Amino acid sequence: MRRTLIAGNWKMNTDHATAVALAEGVAKGAGDVENADLLVCPPFIYLESVNKALANSPVALGAQNMYAQPNGAFTGEVSASMLTDVGAEYVILGHSERRNILGETDAVVNEKTIAALEAGLVPIVCVGELLEQREAGKTAEVIEEQFKGSLAGLSAEQVAKLVIAYEPVWAIGTGKVATPEQAEEVHAGLRKLLADSYNGEIADTVRILYGGSVKPSNAAELMGQPNVDGALVGGASLKAEDFLGIALAL
Ligand code: PGA
Repeated sequence: MRRTLIAGNWKMNTDHATAVALAEGVAKGAGDVENADLLVCPPFIYLESVNKALANSPVALGAQNMYAQPNGAFTGEVSASMLTDVGAEYVILGHSERRNILGETDAVVNEKTIAALEAGLVPIVCVGELLEQREAGKTAEVIEEQFKGSLAGLSAEQVAKLVIAYEPVWAIGTGKVATPEQAEEVHAGLRKLLADSYNGEIADTVRILYGGSVKPSNAAELMGQPNVDGALVGGASLKAEDFLGIALAL
């Protein structure tokens, strides 16, 4: 069965000292968590220090983005092999803030996903609709387009290695969490897309996380849905107690 994954997306938060302290706090409490895998995704610049702080703990390390090319004249960018070099095992790709603020398209997310898999990273590929798209009844259509565009050309074997995150944009950082029914409806749709595009075994294997205003008080109900396999947590991942509280609530 799919093991729950609770992933913390620290976004552009923390400084060196608070990043290390937060990682130490998560590492310290991780031993009490039985029902989930834990992952933290700090800003690039703190990856190495956070990796050291997580040593001898079961908490995995991930990045929040990367560039698809392996190296070369790409000023300001960070490659997949640079991430694995400093201990990252996961990378968040196509987060809605990158799609909507930095202009990342499905094609860009697709290139990055392929490069991440080739480098041995586990991509967490994010999809999610805007409020106006939901209100216009276009949620399923938007999710399908992002799913197909972001995963274009991947083999079933490659898809089996990745994680998908459904993050309705209207629920991110707003305190307006999707209801368990709203989350489950989209997650079940994604599971069907996996089955139809690849096969039933892949659909049963791939973890689909929910993201958007997850906190300890709403985690159990969301994660209790049959197709919700964990959470991608922003705001509540910035305090070890809250982040661990989500994992302990399951
Ligand atoms: P939030 O962010 O938990 O602060 O809503 C989630 C995310 O963007 O991954």
